[in-house]
Amino acid sequence: MVYREFQDLKLSALGMGAMRLPVLDGDDNRIDEAAAGEMVDYAMGQGVNYYDTAWGYHSGNSELAMGKALNRHPRESFYLATKFPGYDLSNMPKVKEIFEKQLEKCQVSYFDFYLFHNVCEMNIDAYLDQSYGIYQYLMEQKENGRIRHLGFSAHGNLDVMKRFLEAYGKDMEFCQIQLNYLDWTFQDAKAKVELLREYNIPVWVMEPLRGGKIARLPEKEEAILKGLRPEEGIPAWAFRFLQSIPEVTVVLSGMSDMEQLKDNVRTFEKDLPLNEKEMETLLSVADGMLNGRLPCTACHYCTSHCPQGLDIPSLLELYNEHSFTGGGFIAPMALMATPKEKHPSACVGCRSCEAVCPQQIKISEVMKDFAEKLK
Ligand code: SF4
Ligand code: SF4
Repeated sequence: MVYREFQDLKLSALGMGAMRLPVLDGDDNRIDEAAAGEMVDYAMGQGVNYYDTAWGYHSGNSELAMGKALNRHPRESFYLATKFPGYDLSNMPKVKEIFEKQLEKCQVSYFDFYLFHNVCEMNIDAYLDQSYGIYQYLMEQKENGRIRHLGFSAHGNLDVMKRFLEAYGKDMEFCQIQLNYLDWTFQDAKAKVELLREYNIPVWVMEPLRGGKIARLPEKEEAILKGLRPEEGIPAWAFRFLQSIPEVTVVLSGMSDMEQLKDNVRTFEKDLPLNEKEMETLLSVADGMLNGRLPCTACHYCTSHCPQGLDIPSLLELYNEHSFTGGGFIAPMALMATPKEKHPSACVGCRSCEAVCPQQIKISEVMKDFAEKLK
């Protein structure tokens, strides 16, 4: 197992994510605890020492299952991470109650790593609102040793991350972002890593395979990569890409069965970062895959022409994300922070924007399609 240094700890570069554990009868609420326990035993045996769960995974059952599975191992042999569920605004006044419950569910007396979960457009104001006392409470838990390391995960855009870091950056010890070779440019992950570097905050990675989207590639792209590293499997390329980024410390992979776990463990037996040529080739493969996304350059020429005052470039960015992912939660979540009259459905189809768009994007049609997709 490859390890990375973090302060005085040696963390396995591969962490086990507990958001897609094996389930019974295809029911996401019913974790197959025997299978999950077997996976944890195997991972522990292979030197994986980082386990990541959250209040909301598997409708609250992930923390319970991980508590049971890890309880069979000495407490000091693993690092456990969970998160404050601020993706649901109704949780904001309940930090103490939730934190206590999480310790109980996980059968531990402290968390090695604790995160503000999913800092994004929808909850940034609430996270910064001191009247909830979340930050203060978590800092107190850090002082009394019930949280060993405090960090945050972010699905928001760069501006949201900047706001969060301006407020709390000096106390954040790590940050978990969606990072893979597609999102390097597509979701601005490169700029996010650079921002975190300014704060000296190491990066934890989620969605290294973009929900499985880059676990397989079309034949042509696969052949290009095979030409460079014949022995490397396609999912391994995603991990080798991450091993090439010095800020990346832990890569979390949400594994659903033993086979995936074994594959990932095999990949992380070696540290094999990409050389310059391999990196260039991989990023151009990613570029090709992202072809077809709307070529909005965020020049903002259109926005002053919109009678509805829509933030067209931001909506197009969300549209790209939503279409490429084939749905998902990121766009709906970001739109929750936007008033209804600024949603794609507010477009009246006047096409004033299209008259000035240098990229000739058919904005009115996109807004109509986006509104449909969001229904
Ligand atoms: S077509 Fe829609 S987005 Fe474009 S200017 Fe008119 S209302 Fe705004
Ligand atoms: S004018 Fe076109 S390219 Fe510029 S922000 Fe608007 S949609 Fe994007």
